Amino acid sequence: MRLLKLLIFLAHWGVARAEPGKFWHISDLHLDPDYKVSTDPLQVCPSAGSQPVSNAGPWGDYLCDSPWVLINSSVYAMKEIEPEPDFILWTGDDTPHVPNERLGEAAVLAIVERLTKLIREVFPDTKVYAALGNHDFHPKNQFPAGSNNIYNQVAELWRPWLSNESISLFKEGAFYSEKLPGPTGRIVVLNTNLYYSQNEQTASMADPGQQFQWLEDVLTNASRAGEMVYIIGHVPPGFFEKTQNKAWFWEGFNEKYLKVVQKHHRVIAGQFFGHHHTDSFRMFYDDAGTPIGVMFLTPGVTPWKTTLPGVVNGANNPGIRVFEYDRATLNLQVRSPGSAGARGGRGEGPEHTTTFPNSQLIHALGTTEPQEGQ
Ligand SMILES: [Zn+2]
Ligand SMILES: [Zn+2]
Repeated sequence: MRLLKLLIFLAHWGVARAEPGKFWHISDLHLDPDYKVSTDPLQVCPSAGSQPVSNAGPWGDYLCDSPWVLINSSVYAMKEIEPEPDFILWTGDDTPHVPNERLGEAAVLAIVERLTKLIREVFPDTKVYAALGNHDFHPKNQFPAGSNNIYNQVAELWRPWLSNESISLFKEGAFYSEKLPGPTGRIVVLNTNLYYSQNEQTASMADPGQQFQWLEDVLTNASRAGEMVYIIGHVPPGFFEKTQNKAWFWEGFNEKYLKVVQKHHRVIAGQFFGHHHTDSFRMFYDDAGTPIGVMFLTPGVTPWKTTLPGVVNGANNPGIRVFEYDRATLNLQVRSPGSAGARGGRGEGPEHTTTFPNSQLIHALGTTEPQEGQ
């Protein structure tokens, strides 16, 4: 009897050791600063290109990137739904889908700054782990493997969220790693724009920015230290589920990324990326076909309808995602609080519908053509 009581006590103690926490993941805000409700369908938003936008509403339109009010409302909705997350993941793409000539370096930096200020204003005491998206550079997609003005300026903007070591690393290659709040958690923020198939700066390099080597080292050290790791970034490996034949990474980089995950999957508790604007996930397998890991692709805030050829139904409802997890083990539970309606531009805030991810395997790469990215 005494033994039974002891076992019951130990079982309760075991359960009590779980440390439930929550964190937010937002991505692809794509602010269009020039969005306006105009009766002239050609004057609504530069991000629609030459497409006429009829009946545009104040909260946005499927043909356009996000108006400021949609982003503002989304970040304040986060505050209302879960005001005290352990941290926020923010995986980039802050600027609108417009030609380079309409932006320029100063305009890109001004938009990153505007969104950074909003998030800091609403969540002043919350740690934010932020990555750059392929649109957060000028010219877009052309991320260099070494230091430059944009990495420097963004590192300064994000200084309140970063350790000194992370600031130095970010200035060199826009990637870094930090300890998470729990006892054994670590986060790795990658700059996978270096692997993007539209990035001509890095296409011929074996390991741009030595990021793969650095990642190997971080994961090896994490394993030795008994840590568990979340990996985040913007452009994911694998294919776009809406075209099937659209891979994002250069082929060699896709292979390398898969190899890293296969080698270190025991310490990788989750991977969180954006860029697709869709609500989906990717499974990783070992060579024997056993599942070894998962990558969650969070929906974008922008409702913008993709211009990638061959995509039917390329628009998305804006979405934000909160995760429940165990601080001690980084084990995850997923919950989607809903998507903000942008239908016809007349949505009035979150719909509170549940969205279900669709699955997609990561295949070997096919051939790709340069196209307007997400
Ligand atoms: Zn993107
Ligand atoms: Zn995007």
